[in-house]
Amino acid sequence: MTVLVCALCGTTLDADADEQSGMLALSWVASHERGRDVRYCPSCARENLRAIEGKLDAEFW
Ligand SMILES: [Zn+2]
Repeated sequence: MTVLVCALCGTTLDADADEQSGMLALSWVASHERGRDVRYCPSCARENLRAIEGKLDAEFW
């Protein structure tokens, strides 16, 4: 059982619930931050894509 939890809005998606959920899970974005795998739902991913990419630069701090 694979449950995705959006790191920003807390939306959850049970990727194994049914075929449609499985398809939807493919549009979620996986990111690797501070040694943890985090997920973003499609709408948050769109809004925060630059912030997510920007975190690469934040490692220089
Ligand atoms: Zn979200």
